[in-house]
Amino acid sequence: MAGDRPRVAPPQDVALIGRSTQQRATVLAALVTAEGFVSARALYNRLLNGGSPVGLSTVYRTLTALAAADRADVVRDTNGERLFRYRPGPDHRHYLICTECGLSLPVDSGPVEKWAERIARTSEFANVRHTVELAGVCPDCGRRHVRAP
Ligand SMILES: [Zn+2]
Ligand SMILES: [Zn+2]
Repeated sequence: MAGDRPRVAPPQDVALIGRSTQQRATVLAALVTAEGFVSARALYNRLLNGGSPVGLSTVYRTLTALAAADRADVVRDTNGERLFRYRPGPDHRHYLICTECGLSLPVDSGPVEKWAERIARTSEFANVRHTVELAGVCPDCGRRHVRAP
C-alpha cells in the first residue's frame, strides 16, 4: 500500500496551506511518506534525524493547516496528543487504531457518512463536520498480552 503513495508533495497541496515555503513543503512531504498516524513531535524528530531541521512550531502549524484544509486526518492518542495522517484524496477516511502499537487501518464508514449527510440535510446546518474515532487493541498486541504472565 505504501508503494502507490506519491513520494513528493503535490504542489497544489502546498498551496492549500498558505505561503508555499520550502519548510512547509518539507513537512508535507514527510507526512505523505509517513507510515500511519504521526504526532507533530515524531515528524519533527524524523526531519531532524533526516538532516532537514524544521522548527517544531512550523511542523505544528503546517499539520494543523493541512487538517483545516481537509488534507490530513486527525485522531488523538491515549494521552490526548493529536496524530496526523495525510489524506490523499478529497474524501476523508476513518480509521481503526491500535492503542498499543499505533497500527491504523482504514475502515468502511459508509453508514456513518450517510447518517452525517442526512443530519446535515435535515438540520439545514452548513459545513457539518464529524469526527469518528475507533480505537482498540489489534490482534498482534492482543496475543502479546495473553502470553504475558
Ligand atoms: Zn497493536
Ligand atoms: Zn466520515
